[in-house]
Amino acid sequence: MRETTWIIDAQSGELTVEGLQRSELAQLTADLLPPGKQVNCARPINIEPLRTSSTHNSNGGPSLRVFRIYHNSVAEGPGRRSVLQTSGCLTRCPNCFVPETHDVRGGVEMKVSEVIERLLDPQGEPRDGVTILGGEPFLQLRGLLALMRSLKQRDLHITLYTGYRLDDLAGRNNRTISQILELTDILIDGPFIKELSDNAGEYIGSTNQRVIRRPALYSSNNFLA
Ligand code: SF4
Repeated sequence: MRETTWIIDAQSGELTVEGLQRSELAQLTADLLPPGKQVNCARPINIEPLRTSSTHNSNGGPSLRVFRIYHNSVAEGPGRRSVLQTSGCLTRCPNCFVPETHDVRGGVEMKVSEVIERLLDPQGEPRDGVTILGGEPFLQLRGLLALMRSLKQRDLHITLYTGYRLDDLAGRNNRTISQILELTDILIDGPFIKELSDNAGEYIGSTNQRVIRRPALYSSNNFLA
C-alpha cells in the first residue's frame, strides 16, 4: 500500500496531503471537502510578493533581493516554518512552479536586518524554524551568509533550498559557500524535474532532489556521488 501523509493545521484548518494525485484525493474526499489546490515546495498559495521595503541599503551593509516572506508553512521543512523566498534564479528548470522569482532584479532589496525583523514577526508567529528558498538563494552569498548568521545567533533551525547540487556547491571551493553550508541544518538540493515529480515525497518537488541533514559534513569528504 502506498504511504500518504495528511497534515491538518490546527491554526488555519488547512489540510495538506502528500502522496496522492489530485484525482485520487478528489475521489476520496469529494463529498467532504471543497476542491483542492496543488502546492509544491516554493509555491505558496495566495501569498502576495513584497512590493516595498521600509529600508534601503544606503550604508552598504549586507542585503538581499526578496520576493516574498510568509509564515505557517508546513510543507517546506520540519514543523511550522517562517519562509524567505529570494528573488533571482538562473537555473531555469522547465516547468518551474515559481518563474515569477527568476528575475535577478526582481523583488525588493532589503537590508538583512529588515528581513530578520519581518521573518521573526513581532506579533510572534509560532515557528519551528526558518526556510530559505528561491529563486536561487546561492546567487546572493553575502546577504545569505549574514542572514543565516543572525538566525543561528537566535538558535533557529534553518532549511535551505537550492537548484544546485551539493557536490557542485562544494566543488567551487568558495569560503562563503562553506560557511553557509556549516550553518545549514537541512539542505534540499538539485533542480526541479517535472518527469520525476509524482509522489516525490516530503519537502521536495521531484525525486532527484535530496534532503541532506548537516550538509557541511558531506561537502568536505567523499560521500557524494
Ligand atoms: S532552481 Fe527552483 S526557482 Fe530556479 S528554476 Fe529550478 S525550480 Fe525554479
